[in-house]
Amino acid sequence: MPTRRQFMGTTIAGAALSPLAAGSAAARDDGFTYEIERTETQWRELLTDEEYAILREGGTERPHSSPLTTDYREGTFHCRGCELQLYSSQWREEVDKGWVFFRHAEPNAMLMDIDGPEEAYGQPELASLTNIEGHCRRCGSHIGHILLVEGKVLHCMNGSALIFRPTEA
Ligand SMILES: [Zn+2]
Repeated sequence: MPTRRQFMGTTIAGAALSPLAAGSAAARDDGFTYEIERTETQWRELLTDEEYAILREGGTERPHSSPLTTDYREGTFHCRGCELQLYSSQWREEVDKGWVFFRHAEPNAMLMDIDGPEEAYGQPELASLTNIEGHCRRCGSHIGHILLVEGKVLHCMNGSALIFRPTEA
């Protein structure tokens, strides 16, 4: 999945995670009032370091690092930051690229932001790849991107940003 940040542990733009956070929809003060707001200290207490880097700084997990990428059981997927249901297994798309892919989000669950060429960090090869960032409408946390994948427009989400609740058998 292309990213405006970098894969966890692998720097694309030659910069550390935190200096890039200023441009993140989740971390910046974009003037939008989310239903759930937390202080940085509260977010740090709630999330692991990796989850914080993704949800609050717009990072991207290493491909295949989440067990959800190959777990296709039925169930629902909730925001790691506020537990709002964002996706359902009925909209999963089996794409073996290392993240969790969906055709749709729950209605009124995800908000979009622009990851345009101006945020390609001076790397022209990235400029055309990522255009739509997706974050939770309730807490603003970055979940992933909406991309053209194998000819389909898909929601390409970080498994670490989601809580999976399997359907009871
Ligand atoms: Zn949320």
